[in-house]
Amino acid sequence: MPINLRFSKRTKIPAPASIAINALAKEKTQKGEKIFNLSAGEPAITKDMSYPSPQGMIELRHAAADWAKQELKTNFKPENVLITAGGKYGLYLSILALINDGDEVLIPSPYYVSYPQLVTLAGGKPVFVKTTQEKGWKLNIETAKKLCTKKTKLLIINNGSNPTGALYTDKEMKEIVNFARKKNLWIISDEVYSGFVYDNLNYASIGKNENAIIVHSMSKNFAMPGLRIGFVFASEEMIKTLTILQSQTLTGVSTINQKQAINALKKSHKITPKIRKEMQKRRDTYIKTMWKYLRIKRPPPPAALYDLLPLSDLSPKDKSDDVKFCKTLLEKTGVALVPGSAFGAKGFVRIAFCAEKKDIKKGIKTLAKYLKTI
Ligand code: PLP
Repeated sequence: MPINLRFSKRTKIPAPASIAINALAKEKTQKGEKIFNLSAGEPAITKDMSYPSPQGMIELRHAAADWAKQELKTNFKPENVLITAGGKYGLYLSILALINDGDEVLIPSPYYVSYPQLVTLAGGKPVFVKTTQEKGWKLNIETAKKLCTKKTKLLIINNGSNPTGALYTDKEMKEIVNFARKKNLWIISDEVYSGFVYDNLNYASIGKNENAIIVHSMSKNFAMPGLRIGFVFASEEMIKTLTILQSQTLTGVSTINQKQAINALKKSHKITPKIRKEMQKRRDTYIKTMWKYLRIKRPPPPAALYDLLPLSDLSPKDKSDDVKFCKTLLEKTGVALVPGSAFGAKGFVRIAFCAEKKDIKKGIKTLAKYLKTI
């Protein structure tokens, strides 16, 4: 295996023997074998209150693999699935499993707020690959190539991007995979916004690839961020490694929440199209309202729930201090926008259009009124 594709040193830790034996004993019991389980300190009041399997309930892993087949056109088995506590914990575990001290990680910028922090937490070094609005905020492979060194180990891609709304085509995703293969890089493909694609555009997952890890979540597609359920889809070897890290840190995910997740996945054919349709309306309302009150014509973001716009479009005076602008705006008007600096985009602001239509309209109208006063 090329050195860059090895797991991090910290993955050498063993799984907690107590959890592993208990999980195995339970699996055997489920299969109908007579087991005298004296392994765990588990005073469970009901079955739901006993310790969960560290990798996640087999029913949920089945349901997640089936769902991904529909949603992402992938071909994963339950052994390729880790159930974790939200997409963010999936990102965290994946980065921990790959990054040693000093390893470099390519991150297209603007980026989701947590990527650089998670890389830093794992001892790695974020290396930002600048993208521009003119190029749809998408990764330029030539630029990425130039930033590769011997220490580059991982590329994090966010298809359906927070904060830019960037959406990669199938061809572009294939080019990214080829680039990563040639450079012996891992890819984490954060696909949590796969369900939010507008104007009948297609969603292109990175699919099943030996050196790719897909991170997904029930927070967005299923509108259940409080459930804290996420999925990681990857090779069996990677999932086994992530399961060890999860069982040593989190133990596993709440059984009650996993059951809720199974129910939601069963209804996914009803839930997701409904949410997608509603978000299309909200995005369109956002674009129309920006024109109506601010005379700003925005290119409609093709995916996700956000638009990242230059502060100079709103306020020529405050051009670069997006942090001060957002703080004052919130204090004076009650309109909350996020400064682009949080995403590596100083001088920009992020507007989320997933609020109710009436709030989008009121918010932008209030913003327009405020802008006239400054
Ligand atoms: N990835 C991206 C791009 C996100 O925007 C978010 C949440 O906003 C997450 C991951 C984390 O989602 P979760 O709620 O599943 O932890």
